[in-house]
Amino acid sequence: MPETEPTKVCPLCAETIKAAAKVCPYCRRSQRGIFFLSRYDLFAVFSCLAIIAAFSFGWHLWGTRRQFSPAQHKITVLSTQFGVERNGDRTNVVMSGMLTNASAYTWKLTGFEIRFFDASGKTVDAAHAGSEYLELTVLPHAERSFRLDLPFREIVPAHASFSVTVAEAKPPGFWLDSN
Ligand SMILES: [Zn+2]
Repeated sequence: MPETEPTKVCPLCAETIKAAAKVCPYCRRSQRGIFFLSRYDLFAVFSCLAIIAAFSFGWHLWGTRRQFSPAQHKITVLSTQFGVERNGDRTNVVMSGMLTNASAYTWKLTGFEIRFFDASGKTVDAAHAGSEYLELTVLPHAERSFRLDLPFREIVPAHASFSVTVAEAKPPGFWLDSN
């Protein structure tokens, strides 16, 4: 190999080859293309992924510690209506409405408490609705609509008045928890 010709080391087999080579004459591996990654490139990519994973995990731990109870009074149900839905053999009372989040955080709402009162204000029935898997996320200082099934209820209980409160909520996942 003439000394004037620029050379490089093949990152795959470590032989000295011409700098302009498109294919290594020793190991026949391509020296170009998007799938060509040296061990240094792989290390850099792996490091980036590890940093993102660690950051995401740390954020998740931080988010999980955030408690809902201090913010509970800041989530208010603005309006509600009941309906009865028939789906094949199944009949289910459905509650829908609007709610507002006056807190500075995003919450994933997982539990609602519905209380029915008679004319004297005595509780005649209470129902719990919602679950861990409910996709009901409300952004900070925002309103959103909601729709919940009242399990094991085929008719709306007779009542003079009712109340709806958000009983359980948790911080959402990493991407939405930016506040
Ligand atoms: Zn090579």
